[in-house]
This record gives sequence, structure tokens and C-alpha cells, in this order.
Amino acid sequence: MLKFYNSLTRQKEEFVPKGDVVKMYTCGPTVYYFPHIGNMRAYLFMDNIRRVLKYNGFKIDGVMNITDAGHLTSDADEGEDKMLVASKRENKSPWEIAKYYTDIFMEETKRLNIDLPNHVCEATSVIPEILDFVTSLVEKGYAYETSKGIYFDISKFEDYGKLGGMNIEDKLAGARIDVDDEKKSPYDFAIWIKAPKEHIMQWESPWGMGYPGWHIECSAIGKKFLGNSIDIHTGGVDHKPIHHENEIAQSDSLEGKKVVNTWMHVEFLQVDGGKMSKSLNNIYTLNDLKERGFDFEDFRYFYFMAHYSKQQNFTFSALTSARNSLKNLKKLAIEHKGKGNKFDTSAYEEEFLNAINDDLNMPVALAVTLKMLKENKSDDIYQALLKFNEILGFDFEEKEDDIPSEIKELAKERWEAKVNKDFAKSDELRNKILDLGYVVKDTREGYTIEKK
Ligand code: AMP
Ligand code: ZN
Repeated sequence: MLKFYNSLTRQKEEFVPKGDVVKMYTCGPTVYYFPHIGNMRAYLFMDNIRRVLKYNGFKIDGVMNITDAGHLTSDADEGEDKMLVASKRENKSPWEIAKYYTDIFMEETKRLNIDLPNHVCEATSVIPEILDFVTSLVEKGYAYETSKGIYFDISKFEDYGKLGGMNIEDKLAGARIDVDDEKKSPYDFAIWIKAPKEHIMQWESPWGMGYPGWHIECSAIGKKFLGNSIDIHTGGVDHKPIHHENEIAQSDSLEGKKVVNTWMHVEFLQVDGGKMSKSLNNIYTLNDLKERGFDFEDFRYFYFMAHYSKQQNFTFSALTSARNSLKNLKKLAIEHKGKGNKFDTSAYEEEFLNAINDDLNMPVALAVTLKMLKENKSDDIYQALLKFNEILGFDFEEKEDDIPSEIKELAKERWEAKVNKDFAKSDELRNKILDLGYVVKDTREGYTIEKK
């Protein structure tokens, strides 16, 4: 039985989609900067859910948005527009910024072998749908106009605060007093914002020129591609109290019913036990890991080492142990490949399935995989591993020889230096190769090159 923890009901529940196809929505990136490894944890989480659904035989209709408009520096409609911040920083138009960072984001997902949804949709491509949504909310009396924009009236939505687990009265009591006295409640949020003339991206609307609030984009994109019944909605825990609360208010009010059934949230990746921050200079991207000699897959393995509902602490020593474990896993795998002994893997297959179906218990699924690989060598085990790999997503097809020619050239030079007894030069070249992430080892017949 497949079970997921639903943040809305705060329970692990049997997962049963409403229809034949699982409808799944994922909050995508705001494309104004390089995605860091914390962001990538959120998309590995999406990948994990998608692969587990497919492993269980489900088909998926999936959507992820790309936020290229309307996200202010605070999730609660305050601060500068994130695209404006980037435009100023890089002296480019917001469209150029969005294109540049969207491409980078897509590349990062490829590097991690992330299974992407069939629809990836930019907010700027659905402005008419967003305006329809806003207009309907106004017509139905859920939203009102002020001099700044169109606001959702949270008093009209009884369940407001349910997902974040906060009683709205408590929330109001603890609120920073909102300076906007045109708003009926400080927690009313903008679904359409009237644009000052100088605002970078703006569109015509029944209320003059403006741009969408951040939350409405997800409600409108979800409706456009998935309709009014969505089985799973994912995002990071930071989205729970504001962004997802607001999405629920908008969508459920418009449809007059609960739109999303299962809400799933991934906990944060921390670095060295704390938040990633500019001042600590510890915001890492995949490239930073690569520059230190790690493979992208090492980070994928690292993701599986903790349950998604727990904070995961990133350190280079933890990433190193992920790399070593993955190396070991691959080494064991090869030893099984093509070996003639018969082996009945069904007990392991069942254990593996139970682990992934128990709310994506990947640490257990990995342990089961390694335990199986320690059995007597058999190609049946290799075949079972390939099946598990539909979830794990590692590259077992890696060619023996994927050493870059530059490294081979350096290794040859080093060997020649050694043969000529120029040990200073050969040591220097060995270190250079090491810095580039490879190790040369001398053998009786000559030398070998391996990845560090
Ligand atoms: P953003 O591009 O800021 O909208 O974030 C993209 C996704 O990354 C969202 O689902 C966030 O919840 C998630 N996210 C941001 N920081 C972290 C982190 N440190 N760990 C895990 N997920 C994160
Ligand atoms: Zn969203």
C-alpha cells in the first residue's frame, strides 16, 4: 500500500488518486538567480515522488511553474520585485534574466537526472488565465480592490490558516501591524498588483496596468493544466504558511470545493548545521560541488540519505561519504553483472517496495539495496538493482573509460617524467591531476587513472 504524509491532515494516508491519472503540481523556481543545492533538494523530492508513483504503475499528469514575474522579496507581498533586483544587479531586462536562469535551472535538473513534469509553465505565459481567475474571485465577492491592487479577503475563507497550523486570531495577534489601512485584514493578500509606471513587467487589466501576485500564478497554472481536482501538490516547508495557504484560499473559493487532496512538503537542507546565507559564504550550487571534484550523482545519493520530512545537514564530509557509498554500490553492482548463479530476489523486492511506499523511506530503501548487493553474486541481483534504479536514478551504464583526454595527456606526461627520473616534475603533474579530480596510480604494467 502506498502511503504519503499529507501536511493538510497531518497524517500518513493511503494514496488513492481521484482518477486514472495522478494529477500533480509542483511549485517551481523563481528564476532570478542560480539555484542552490537546497532548491535542488526540493526538486529531487519531486523526482522521488514521481518515480515512486510510476514504480507503482501510476501515470502522472504533472505541472511545474516557473516564476518569472510577481515574486516580491518577501513572500507576503512586500519588498522589491525579485526580477527587478536581478535586472539591476546584472543590467539586463527581466526577460533576459528569466531566460538565462530558467535555462540554468533546467540544466541543473538534467544533471541530477530529475524526472520533470510534462508541463513546465512560465507565469508570464498565463496572464489571461490569471486575469480570469482574479476577475472571478472579485465577482464572487472573495476579493476587493484598493488603490494598490486586488486583494483576497481572508475573512471569506473559513479554513484560512489550516495548512500552516495557525489559528488566524493568534496570527493576527502576533502580526506586525500592516501599514496598508485599505486592507480589511493585514493577512489579506494581493492577487493582482497595480503597477507604478516604472515597474519592469506589467500587463493591461480591468484595473489598469499591473502584474500578478505570486500566489495566484500557481492557482491559475494548476487550474489551466490539471483542472479543479489535484491529487498531489508539492513544495518546500517555507511555502506552507503563506504561499500554499493562499493558494488554497484562492482555488477552493473559486471552485467552491477542496481542490488539492494531498499536500507534501520537503524540509530544508541546512549547511554546516545552519541556514545557507550569503554572509556565511555557504550557499553552494551544483557547480561548486563539481569544482571540488564531486559528481552530480553524489548529491543525488546524498539526498537519499535522509528522509525528506527531516532537515538534512549538508557538509562536505557527508557528501564524501555519499560519494564513497555510491562508489561501493556501483562496484558491488558490477560484480553481479552477468554472473550465472540463480538468486530469488523477491524478498528484497518486497522490502524495497515497502520502504519507498512508506512515505518515501529512502534511507531504508538504500539499506535494502546494499544488503541485497552483499549476497552471492548473481545476475538476478543485478536485474533487481536495475529495477530499483527506476527510483534511484543512478548511471550504471557509465563507460569504463570516461577520463577526459586532458587528464590522459597529463598522466602520460607524468609517466614519461617518471621514466626519465624527473621526480619533481612527475610529482607536480600528479598533484595537478589530483587537483582536477583524478588519481594516477602506478601498477606493474604502467599506471591507471581513476576519479578521485
Ligand atoms: P524559490 O526559487 O526560492 O521559489 O525556491 C524553489 C524551491 O526550493 C521551493 O520549493 C523552496 O521551498 C525550496 N527551497 C528553498 N530553500 C531550500 C532549502 N534550503 N532546502 C530545501 N528546499 C529549499
Ligand atoms: Zn507555488
